[in-house]
Amino acid sequence: MEWWVSIPKVELHAHLNGSIRNSTLLEIARELGEKGTIVFSDIEHVIRKNDRKLHEVFKLFDLIHVVTTDHKTITRITKEVVEDFAAENVVYLELRTTPKRNDAIGLSKRSYMEAVVDGLRSVSSNNLEINFSGADLETFSKSQTKMRIIVRLLLSIDRRESTASAMETVNLALEMKDMGVIGIDLSGNPTVGDWKNFFPALKFAKDQGLSVTLHCGEVPNSVEVQAMLDFLPGRIGHACCFQDEDWNKLKSYKIPVEICLTSNIRTETISSVDVHHFGNLYKENHPIVLCTDDSGVFSTNLSTEYALVSSAFGIGKMELFQLARKAVDFIFAGNEVKMELKKVYDAAARTLK
Ligand code: 5GP
Repeated sequence: MEWWVSIPKVELHAHLNGSIRNSTLLEIARELGEKGTIVFSDIEHVIRKNDRKLHEVFKLFDLIHVVTTDHKTITRITKEVVEDFAAENVVYLELRTTPKRNDAIGLSKRSYMEAVVDGLRSVSSNNLEINFSGADLETFSKSQTKMRIIVRLLLSIDRRESTASAMETVNLALEMKDMGVIGIDLSGNPTVGDWKNFFPALKFAKDQGLSVTLHCGEVPNSVEVQAMLDFLPGRIGHACCFQDEDWNKLKSYKIPVEICLTSNIRTETISSVDVHHFGNLYKENHPIVLCTDDSGVFSTNLSTEYALVSSAFGIGKMELFQLARKAVDFIFAGNEVKMELKKVYDAAARTLK
């Protein structure tokens, strides 16, 4: 396992509230229980449960949101999530989250995102340096700090949202470009909502120069999958329930796929690792990147995903190091960041055994 931790890795599909530490979630839930805001015993067994089908995962997220959605907690979990990724040598992280509004506690989508950015700001310590806005990349690249992580943000649109609400998220992303926001994600329960509702906001995002990634094909829905692929997103996540015509289109368009192995197995979207589409996409040299999806909810981390792929598909360490390096080509940040990351991989390649 140590080897998989030691290689530099790029994480492109991580949901903030899905990556929360179990210990933090239980601690906050217990505190709210003591205050009488929630009944802790009702929540504890749901948090501790390990096997959840896809629809149960979305129920869990609703519960997590009750517990985490206030400014202070969002700042805390952002800091912890980034520190956890950095601790396993993730050198570039695209962290995605759904901006939320709760008038009762004075939370707006903007103040939610500002709390996230506060979390990023609070990461810097003696042994870890973070870069989350392009502005100070030059200073960062000269830094000799032991651990370094570059973080960029994607704003998620939840499939339960209206067109107007989705548009509000895209406008917020545009306003927060100088705070490290570089793109938009479409996620949330795949059996809810209609692609047509989100299309105007996603097209607007693309036209305005934001990168877009879509959760695509988590449930069988070939009409939606075809429309999503024709939209030519920068990347897609999952691609579990694809028909032949969908694979053909994906491959001809060369759209990179964010692969979330443990998540797909745990939610039973894919029946077992050995039949996972990773195998075929890897063999055909299709652009792919290994990701965690929800490291807290699925009790995984990126090093574990690499180790899992290695053992399940019999792929050697150096081949997977090259796969990790190749992920740099699919990040949404610009060339400056790509060049910085290539330097990190070049340095690592010189020391690998
Ligand atoms: P948040 O956006 O609140 O930081 O992260 C949790 C949210 O991400 C969930 O409520 C859901 O909308 C989205 N999400 C997390 N994991 C998945 C997944 O596997 N599939 C889909 N479609 N959405 C997910």
